[in-house]
Amino acid sequence: MSNGKTKNTDPRLVVLGAAGVGKSAVVVRFMTRRFIWEYDPTLEYTYKHQTTVDDEMVTMEILDTAGDDFSNQREGQIRWGDGFVLVYSVNSRDSFEKVQHIKRHLDEVKKTNVQCILIGNKTDLHHERNVTTSEGEHLAAEMACAFYETSASDGSPEIVEAFHELYREVKRRKALAGKPRRRSSAQQVKQVISKVLRGIQSGS
Ligand code: GDP
Ligand code: MG
Repeated sequence: MSNGKTKNTDPRLVVLGAAGVGKSAVVVRFMTRRFIWEYDPTLEYTYKHQTTVDDEMVTMEILDTAGDDFSNQREGQIRWGDGFVLVYSVNSRDSFEKVQHIKRHLDEVKKTNVQCILIGNKTDLHHERNVTTSEGEHLAAEMACAFYETSASDGSPEIVEAFHELYREVKRRKALAGKPRRRSSAQQVKQVISKVLRGIQSGS
């Protein structure tokens, strides 16, 4: 993570979801195109990943989270992140419910509708599936984020596409934020309030 002194504008992507849905497998698949069956489920790691997006060499930071508590540390990670990869597995309804809670929590902490993508992983487990594709699509529409179904073990190309899409979105928003903007509505509200207060104080 950055130490706050250096201004680092590389997009920071945070991967969240219930334990065991395949977050680490998806991240490793994205970065190495490989699948490793077992990872330490308690391992939490931030990767600096260099890759090509739309023919451009880019760097992004990816935080692969572990555990599903919402402690102060987690809030720090949420504030650190620019974009969020929300992962559930298509064979776990609990994990599908979980991403909905996570999204609400993210919006609360960031005080905005956060940029995210929704991933339904483990599509290779056909016989165990209990979350349908259309349920995933509906949820993604509600969250206003792109939706992908993936299999980290089969190595579906959707994993790469998903990360690239989130990267593009974050870059777009960062570019907009860097431009001079009109006065924000919060500032306008403040000015109106102080005008009214001045009016009250001067007795008019
Ligand atoms: P995390 O806790 O969310 O990081 O989950 P892991 O990446 O550690 O994966 C949990 C378990 O699910 C491991 O045994 C993985 O091998 C397995 N797994 C991950 N992705 C897939 C997938 O797409 N298909 C199948 N069948 N298993 C997967
Ligand atoms: Mg993991």
